[in-house]
Amino acid sequence: MKIAVCLKQVPDTEAEVKWDIPKGTLSRDGMDSITNPFDEFALEEALLTKENYDGEIIAISMGPEGAKDVLRNALALTVDETALCCDDAFAGSDTYATAYVLASAIKKAGDVDVVFCGKQSTDGNTGVVGAELAAILGFSQLTQVGKVRSIDAGAKKIVVERAVEGGIEVVEAKLPAVVSVIKGINEPRLPNLMGIRKASKIDIPQWSAGDLGVDTGKVGAAGASTKVVEIAVPPPRGAGEILKGELEEVANMITDKLIDLKVIK
Ligand SMILES: Cc1cc2nc3c(=O)[nH]c(=O)nc-3n(C[C@H](O)[C@H](O)[C@H](O)COP(=O)(O)OP(=O)(O)OC[C@H]3O[C@@H](n4cnc5c(N)ncnc54)[C@H](O)[C@@H]3O)c2cc1C
Repeated sequence: MKIAVCLKQVPDTEAEVKWDIPKGTLSRDGMDSITNPFDEFALEEALLTKENYDGEIIAISMGPEGAKDVLRNALALTVDETALCCDDAFAGSDTYATAYVLASAIKKAGDVDVVFCGKQSTDGNTGVVGAELAAILGFSQLTQVGKVRSIDAGAKKIVVERAVEGGIEVVEAKLPAVVSVIKGINEPRLPNLMGIRKASKIDIPQWSAGDLGVDTGKVGAAGASTKVVEIAVPPPRGAGEILKGELEEVANMITDKLIDLKVIK
């Protein structure tokens, strides 16, 4: 079985998020980068699928050269192949252009049965790349997947559990399919020292627009059909107030304040 997993490099938002307000983008300057946390679950699901169904995995990322770190981590966890889609023409791509490039890479990888993605990224946060990938490739799309029950590459069938409001939905779909996974579907493993050492010596192929047969008029800022026209950060919260006194006294003060604010009558 051929498995692809899409891994995005994102800024480590555990640290303070900085915005480039005029450009309408996240400012990545001086920020540490990590694998999109949702994609760690996608990667673990790809590894489990490989182990359970005897497959091979290609991990794909689109981004600048630095995104190789994400792929190197995947190599340390024993993915078989990697590809970084990297070209100046891709800079400024919107979600559809990103999906178009990733779909071209998946086609180039050849005969992929299942593509694992995260539910969303923690920076762009649109949660649409998986669906766009499925649409471009003509694959089945399974979103919000909390468990993969079975995959039958011979019968070209996959059965998953989708997390829905108040329960689960069991869905059977035709392969090939794009599966977008949610947090908690599994417990992502960590690479060991030997894996890290081995991965550090492996060359990561870089695929340009030309290598992928991508129409450069459809990617980058010029090819983007969406544009961030404004970005704003919420104003900082004012200092709170600590009410002092006996319990009943404080309760009355709170009640008066809520009445003043018209929260209660
Ligand atoms: C007009 C415009 C200009 C932009 N310019 C830039 C820019 O210059 N530089 C920039 O970094 N971003 C830019 N972005 C953001 C960029 O388009 C998105 O980050 C990207 O398209 C993915 O969208 P998302 O992060 O919301 O992914 P989501 O849909 O939230 O991600 C879902 C899943 O798709 C997969 N995925 C998503 N993106 C990638 C990727 N790059 N590689 C591998 N897998 C992926 C992952 O598995 C992820 O979990 C721009 C966006 C717009 C609208």
